Amino acid sequence: SLSDRLGGVFDRLRGRGALTEADVRTAMREVRVALLEADVALPVAREFVDKVTEQAIGQNVLRSVTPGQQVVKIVHDALVAMLGADESSLALDVTPPAIVMMVGLQGSGKTTTTAKIAKRLSGRERKKVLMASLDVNRPAAQEQLATLGTQVEVATLPIIQGQQPVDIARRAIQAAKLQGFDVLMLDTAGRLHVDQALMDEMKSVAEIARPQEILLVVDSLTGQDAVNVATSFSEQVPLTGIVLTRMDGDARGGAALSMRSVTGKPIKFAGTGEKLDALEGFHPERVAGRILGMGDVVSLVERAAESIQAEDAERMAKKMAKGQFDMDDLRGQLAQMRRMGGLGALAGMMPGMKKAQNALNDAGGDKILVRMDAIITSMTVKERAKPEVINAKRKIRIAKGSGTTVQEVNKLLKMHQEMSTAMKKIKKMGGLKGMMSMLG
Ligand code: GDP
Ligand code: MG
Repeated sequence: SLSDRLGGVFDRLRGRGALTEADVRTAMREVRVALLEADVALPVAREFVDKVTEQAIGQNVLRSVTPGQQVVKIVHDALVAMLGADESSLALDVTPPAIVMMVGLQGSGKTTTTAKIAKRLSGRERKKVLMASLDVNRPAAQEQLATLGTQVEVATLPIIQGQQPVDIARRAIQAAKLQGFDVLMLDTAGRLHVDQALMDEMKSVAEIARPQEILLVVDSLTGQDAVNVATSFSEQVPLTGIVLTRMDGDARGGAALSMRSVTGKPIKFAGTGEKLDALEGFHPERVAGRILGMGDVVSLVERAAESIQAEDAERMAKKMAKGQFDMDDLRGQLAQMRRMGGLGALAGMMPGMKKAQNALNDAGGDKILVRMDAIITSMTVKERAKPEVINAKRKIRIAKGSGTTVQEVNKLLKMHQEMSTAMKKIKKMGGLKGMMSMLG
């Protein structure tokens, strides 16, 4: 795995300060192999590595992180950035009907995804949706969509046998206009390979329908071929986004990076199963983790991130020692505890805080953190900055505002107090860094 390979590299990289070109290049050779193993297309892997190498050289190595770990963190962050943010919203803000057209290879999941998106739009977003199948190639393709329509309770265009795709599209647009549909979803015929006759058909449909969204549906198990698929489709029609299906399978996620890189279009949804509610927004973090090789490397990155959090903790400790640790800082710490599944960097490092941590877990862990957050939200700016002004009357108001009890408000104030006290003690012991070096 990548981490084994990088292990050797890490041993050799012992410097501190800025990452040298040699450090970065050695680590990147391994990263490149990992990308190819995750099925990222070769030209995409090459380009990615070149870009990240350039970014990484000269970057400072964070305290308590090895240069190799730092490189992995940089690669991880670059992957996330390149995969793009979660942009699962569709641009449907037009005079109705907004038109969404689905394109892609046969079997990629177009018809299923059409129904999934229609279900989401008609349910969660309360849109009136009409679906139409333009697939006259595969027998019973139109019936398949009609059946799915019944299942998700979304209307489908009545089937007229023998009609050609462009005529079906015209009829669908007409029907959507006349019957006041908000959204029209056009499911098109698949192609086994990129086939010019079908491409032309798709182009003519796109020309008459002028869709707001043209989504390319791709099976995430598509390996090295993803680049060819992406290139030919994006050359023929103006794609607006990508849907990756079968993300529930064991795909390593390479296709996501390839598609994104070749088309430059956002990945809007991920299909995660055959069921019609198995549609999610796209999570770049998860896919980056998959590409880097799930287990070891990800925990490595996490360790690096924890080290960065240790630096945050150090900064926080300084604030505390100066008496500047206010409720907003506490809230930041609570959010961090929640992200880390209950074990905050600060809490985990302070002997005095182990007790508070245990108390938190006993009290229901995550839930209590959410309640504490609500309490802080109900405080005024002044109360957050100077918790000592919170008297009995204020406590009642805060409890009411946050839907909690005065007892809980007291607990939170006590926790804040304890953290401040513990921090002052630590300062006397020579700071958090001194304390940590004592612990080894
Ligand atoms: P089309 O030819 O592009 O219209 O593909 P279909 O929508 O007919 O889907 C082909 C097969 O893939 C069907 O059996 C679907 O149930 C299945 N499928 C579609 N999306 C997903 C997904 O996200 N996960 C899984 N596991 N199966 C999917
Ligand atoms: Mg289909």
